[in-house]
Amino acid sequence: MMRESAGIGMTSQRTRERMVTRLMEQGIRDLRVLEVMRTLPRHLFVDEALATRAYEDTALPIGSGQTISQPYAVARMTEALLNGGRPRKVLEVGTGCGYQSAVLAALVDEVFSVERIGDLVRRTRERLQRLQIRNVRLRHGDGYAGWAEHGPYDGILVAAAPTQVPAALLEQLADGGRLIVPVGNRGSQQLLLVSRSNGELKQEVLEMVSFVPMVPGASQ
Ligand code: SAH
Repeated sequence: MMRESAGIGMTSQRTRERMVTRLMEQGIRDLRVLEVMRTLPRHLFVDEALATRAYEDTALPIGSGQTISQPYAVARMTEALLNGGRPRKVLEVGTGCGYQSAVLAALVDEVFSVERIGDLVRRTRERLQRLQIRNVRLRHGDGYAGWAEHGPYDGILVAAAPTQVPAALLEQLADGGRLIVPVGNRGSQQLLLVSRSNGELKQEVLEMVSFVPMVPGASQ
């Protein structure tokens, strides 16, 4: 990790500080989330050619036609998922480059993450190994089915937008658990918080967001 970040050196530390200041101005309050994002080298999750832009508040390409989520979206979703506590087991749908997985890995015990594009799974697996992040398990598959084997989950975070909350994800949500998911069509999605308490589901709209669509089925 040290060797790989050396090229960007102090610049990335300073730009990361600026990113965190911006996140605070945008209303992110959870100090644990801010601290993890202050230290995690986001530039190692994008292509080298784009590394200098890694801390801008935009979504950047990560290959296979996908993008890394913008810092604000990662911070907001993580904060909403944690809700001031520490979920033990979290399911993530849409691993992509693994940045969100790495943020979660620092804040919860275990992360299970499902990605439909095989090429991204392979590259992200290597990246997380290089970064010595060991509490994230990746699976190449369709996130519409969740990952039943390891459920139920205290938290579920979805990084791509379905048009409806997938039924399997509701089934795999533990009692007391929280599911954060952008729902809607391209250009008009609501970030939903679904919580289960004493067997009952409650739904709340957090804000309007813009994610890539959740696509059924897995591909190479
Ligand atoms: N979490 C990533 C963001 C990835 S973008 C980050 O930290 O930057 C959304 C990802 O969801 C893409 O990689 C896309 O391939 C994936 N995705 C879309 N539909 C999916 C599905 N049905 N199952 C699993 N992953 C899916």
